[in-house]
Amino acid sequence: MTDSATQLFIDDQWTDAADGRTIPVHNPATGEVIGTVAHAGIPDLERAVESVRRGFETWRNYTPAKRSRIMRKAAALMRERADEIARLMTLEQGKPLAESKGETLAAADIIEWFAEEGFRVYGRLVPHRSNLAVRQMVLKDPVGPVAAFTPWNFPINQVVRKVAAGLAAGCSLIVKAPEETPASPAELIRAFADAGLPAGVLALVYGDPAEISGHLIAHPAIRKITFTGSTAVGKQLAALAGEHMKRVSMELGGHAPVIVCEDADVELAVKAMGPAKFRNAGQVCISPTRFLVHDSVREDFARALADYAAGLKVGDGLVEGTNMGPLANTRRVTAMEALRDDAVERGATVLSGGKRLDETGNFWAPTILDDVPSEARIFNEEPFGPVAAIRGFQRLDDAIAEANRLSYGLAGYAFTRSLATADQLTRDVEVGMLWINTPAAPTAELPFGGVKDSGYGSEGGPEAMEAYLNTRSVAILNQ
Ligand code: NAD
Repeated sequence: MTDSATQLFIDDQWTDAADGRTIPVHNPATGEVIGTVAHAGIPDLERAVESVRRGFETWRNYTPAKRSRIMRKAAALMRERADEIARLMTLEQGKPLAESKGETLAAADIIEWFAEEGFRVYGRLVPHRSNLAVRQMVLKDPVGPVAAFTPWNFPINQVVRKVAAGLAAGCSLIVKAPEETPASPAELIRAFADAGLPAGVLALVYGDPAEISGHLIAHPAIRKITFTGSTAVGKQLAALAGEHMKRVSMELGGHAPVIVCEDADVELAVKAMGPAKFRNAGQVCISPTRFLVHDSVREDFARALADYAAGLKVGDGLVEGTNMGPLANTRRVTAMEALRDDAVERGATVLSGGKRLDETGNFWAPTILDDVPSEARIFNEEPFGPVAAIRGFQRLDDAIAEANRLSYGLAGYAFTRSLATADQLTRDVEVGMLWINTPAAPTAELPFGGVKDSGYGSEGGPEAMEAYLNTRSVAILNQ
């Protein structure tokens, strides 16, 4: 139990909303209200914008070395505080404590990587075509104050990827973190504040997502929008940003295909994809979802994956030994029921799970559906839950066509022992991230992002810095 009251962070102060409004926060394992989060109104947003406008003027004039020192200190604080932060995350989001702690420690790694990358924001000199006395410079400048919108599935990771890259580039940011899971992202912001970040460089707000995005995207002081969440909401926000000519990065939904070829190491495929499927109860944008398995190995693969799913211990994430926690909110349980009913009606077989486990919390059994027709909703809509849908194939070209059929293009996975097949998949599968014979390992140094309806922009690697930089050129005739 906690009785947490997460506040807004504006101009270096932790504060309630000006009108005192709050939103209740629930524990998804018990359904109980465990605290509140402040609900910002327009006056709070105005103060936040004014603070990051001033904060940007301070921060853009810090040297990369000075920024890096503060960022490294924040990373160290995240490591020191990881146990307590992980507990808050599990209480509000439900994932097992080990996953919460892993996410908190990974945030420290991400901050440190970007603290280094901030040193490598270089411009260049370009020789003039006819007069070498003209010095032509290409400059990289921070884009300005940023509005960042993040979801509840990875309460810290989704924030830190934006904040670390933005800060390293010299931007200030207002973060609209998730109302469902507010306490752990607040601890991330606290680590930066305690590390000595100057006033106004970061602000944190919660409230009505549509009201906040509507206000901030239109605000002239905000120069860049970054959003992680569903494709439907991403399209709305990108359209609004377009109206106001704002820079945008979008990390949206996915529907990751997994192609298990005739020559695959089936044991390896199950070992890699089982944990990947049920991590965070499947509420992961890169979660493996559409399993396309060659008919010659399908029965072995499906049986082994179903055995793996049946062996998982589902329960409260705070309890030692829990492998999978509850779904983060009741919306997801309703969605799982509808997807299961639709698939079964269309002829799919439930090999494991397929049902709600406990009426008090949002528990859904790890589920394997076999023989799922491609018209089934689960083969078309992002399930965002612990359900794997399997269907067979005979020709690799058909599996690739099925992988590319949807408008999503975030992550993909494949298993094959053939280098030629791996090459073909590399060329032809339309995803931003493809993992062959290995589970995903999306570290800070690797670009993270999608193609097609999964969005644009990258949240890892040097490309992530570009998202927060303007490129300008200046020519000077030396007199
Ligand atoms: P949703 O579409 O209502 O919300 C998704 C996220 O967007 C939430 O964090 C929400 O607060 C935010 N949001 C919604 N409307 C907004 C607006 N007008 N302005 C700014 N932010 C807004 O869905 P949900 O029920 O919370 O989550 C379900 C779906 O969202 C999933 O099926 C999945 O497709 C998607 N999702 C994706 C990710 C991801 O990592 N890409 C994370 C969480 C949710």
